[in-house]
Amino acid sequence: ESPVPSDIEVSRAQKPKLITVLGKEIGLKSEELEAYGTTKAKVSLDVLKRLQLRPNGKYVVVVGITPTPLGEGKSTTTMGLTQALGAHLNRNSFACVRQPSQGPTFGIKGGAAGGGYSQVIPMEEFNLHLTGDIHAITAANNLVAAAIDTRIFHERTQSDEALFNRLVPKNKQGKRILTPIQKRRLENQGVTGIDDAEQLTPEQRSKFARLDIDPDTITFNRVLDTNDRFLRSIEIGLGPTEKGQTRRTEFMITVGSELMAILALATDLEDLRDRVSKVVIGNDKAGHPVTIDDVGVTGAVAVLMRDTIKPNLMQTVEGTPVFVHAGPFANIAHGASSVLADKLALKIVGEDGFVITEAGFGADIGMEKFFNIKCRYSGLTPDVVVLVATVRALKMHGGGPPVTAGAPLAFEYLNPNLELLEKGCDSNLRKQIENVQAFNVPVVVCVNQFASDSEEELELVKNKAKQYGAVGVVSNHWAKGGLGAIDLGKAVIEASTLPNNFNFLYPLNDSIENKITTIAKRIYGADGIELSEKAKQKIEIYTKNGFSQLPICMAKTQLSLSHDPSKKGAPTGFTLPIRDVRISAGAGFIFPLCGDIMTLPGLNTRPCFYDIDIDPETMRIDGLF
Ligand code: ADP
Repeated sequence: ESPVPSDIEVSRAQKPKLITVLGKEIGLKSEELEAYGTTKAKVSLDVLKRLQLRPNGKYVVVVGITPTPLGEGKSTTTMGLTQALGAHLNRNSFACVRQPSQGPTFGIKGGAAGGGYSQVIPMEEFNLHLTGDIHAITAANNLVAAAIDTRIFHERTQSDEALFNRLVPKNKQGKRILTPIQKRRLENQGVTGIDDAEQLTPEQRSKFARLDIDPDTITFNRVLDTNDRFLRSIEIGLGPTEKGQTRRTEFMITVGSELMAILALATDLEDLRDRVSKVVIGNDKAGHPVTIDDVGVTGAVAVLMRDTIKPNLMQTVEGTPVFVHAGPFANIAHGASSVLADKLALKIVGEDGFVITEAGFGADIGMEKFFNIKCRYSGLTPDVVVLVATVRALKMHGGGPPVTAGAPLAFEYLNPNLELLEKGCDSNLRKQIENVQAFNVPVVVCVNQFASDSEEELELVKNKAKQYGAVGVVSNHWAKGGLGAIDLGKAVIEASTLPNNFNFLYPLNDSIENKITTIAKRIYGADGIELSEKAKQKIEIYTKNGFSQLPICMAKTQLSLSHDPSKKGAPTGFTLPIRDVRISAGAGFIFPLCGDIMTLPGLNTRPCFYDIDIDPETMRIDGLF
């Protein structure tokens, strides 16, 4: 057998069909496709309306066991399975994945298009600007940030009356007409039925005009899509024109922003705008939440993001369709691609078709959030879970030496070791299968085959999956593309016909503390949780302000079922510490922090960008592996 070429070589060797041709193949009308060049296009949401009576296809979510830092092939499996179903098993199939951030692409991790013969192409388009969605979010986010500090500035230097006169200027007829956003603010203050703001009393004018934002409470940060660690903590307002209004603040990576989480959860532009309006940017000096709506910038954000809500169509190496849409971080957000892409794809593939989507991180985090947050907001019910496992990760869980990115793999991982493997199956694989079963969805364990795996090892994982109530399949799509995933495809088709009584893990009306405890005990295997004083205070405030009905978005390491990344297998006998609790009121979740979270990654000494270059003659890009 010839060895598999590098990811970029595979990507480059396959000439993609014109995106307009793919659009036609999947039944889109030419006016429903907005091509950006020849290999990618945005798809109009009008398709949802046109196909509203068509039954949805089957909804399959690819999740993973607790991974090594190298990744165990969720994206690769998502592509391989889609290729098997769409190019070899005669089913309509569609993959839905996240758009990668340029932070990791130029940093440590490199691209994220899948690998081997199971990839999205062209990889350059996928990994770089795509159709500009991330840039649009950066622009929208930073407009809000600018609006906040500037508003504080103007409030410092102007009287209530002057502020009011500027915010609601008189028109030619001498009337002060409020914008819809301003009307909402007034209504929130209990003043209704006012058409001409001239009628307001002086007290009402002052209350309306002055947001009185407490600068120390601002949680809305500036963002960029670059791993620029020197912006993690900054001081702004140092210029003489800002008259001493300085403030410590921070930049985050764009994909960690609440606007990105909103894009991923929105069901249409109206819903997007509604969620944006509710984003809490900080508190006023009386302790009440201040929103993007209060700052008056909701409409402008929706305008800047108007095109982002259309999913981006691309293709796999075998020419099956892929939506690349939204890419919320899996640590401070829910880490799944968009609701809209899934909804559109489910209509396009139709009743006998399959949509394969992915939930970032291990099943304990990505899948739990996929079900309890994404499915809750989309109303979609998953039909099958594919749980990706690798022999190497299972050996690590069975007590093998640490696996480190960039370092050579230890002997145990390159040679057969059934003992370590069995221990890993009985701990981590068993627990993650149980985690899927907690939601009552059929589960297929996909053993993602590596060249170093022995027959006995692959057979063992398959049998163990069966022992724990799942279907086990060995899949070789990385080396063979869709043909290598035929068994996986057949197992998924079979599982999709099984009875499915999907349930959420917790009711929304449970208390915040109870919801966190349920996740910690049922999914992580903890004995309970321990809230810090700060976390307790925050929970009290959020509950008082009416946010306790939101679902929970846990921020925890993906490298262990517990909060301690060094604890492998299926740890027990631990209490989960909750250091802090935060809120994304617009996106619609509360996020407890179980450890340090990275909101802006950095660069190492020799980041990926060293290898990235372009040939000006041929425009060929090198170094995006
Ligand atoms: P995840 O989505 O779980 O993070 P990826 O699918 O991105 O994982 O895979 C991580 C890396 O491992 C990629 O570079 C991919 O090419 C490689 N990879 C995945 N599966 C295999 C395999 N079976 N054999 C060799 N390399 C693989």
